[in-house]
Amino acid sequence: MDWLQFSIILARVFIEIIFFAIGASIFSFLNVVIYRLPRHMQFSLGHSMCTTCGHELTMRDMIPILSWLKLRGKCRYCGARISARYTIVETLGGCFAVLWTLVFGIKWPAIPAFLASGVVTVVVYILYDKLRSRGGDSTLHSE
Ligand SMILES: [Zn+2]
Repeated sequence: MDWLQFSIILARVFIEIIFFAIGASIFSFLNVVIYRLPRHMQFSLGHSMCTTCGHELTMRDMIPILSWLKLRGKCRYCGARISARYTIVETLGGCFAVLWTLVFGIKWPAIPAFLASGVVTVVVYILYDKLRSRGGDSTLHSE
């Protein structure tokens, strides 16, 4: 492998890391949609907050995947457990972004494929929550 090939591969890895971060960030927002949509809460307005103590979250609490890992899955303010699911959904988003840019290349068809993955993820999780909460109101923190 010569330097040119190595540089091209390195650039592509760097680009895919950026796509992973973008995908994880978009799916981080979808976590909000999954939580708020069935509860008829507005998801486009308002700050994110801890679902246990209600403390408003700051930027450093909301970095996809990394914040959850750094806080070891617990709220910075009240110590309540934060479901690993948020991080799983974010990781899924990052993986979908990388997957579709590898399948289609860095081209327009990757965008609808990614968006469709997002819609399917939201629908699956909302249905899963509905099935689980039958017979009682369960929250994500009861896991
Ligand atoms: Zn809290």
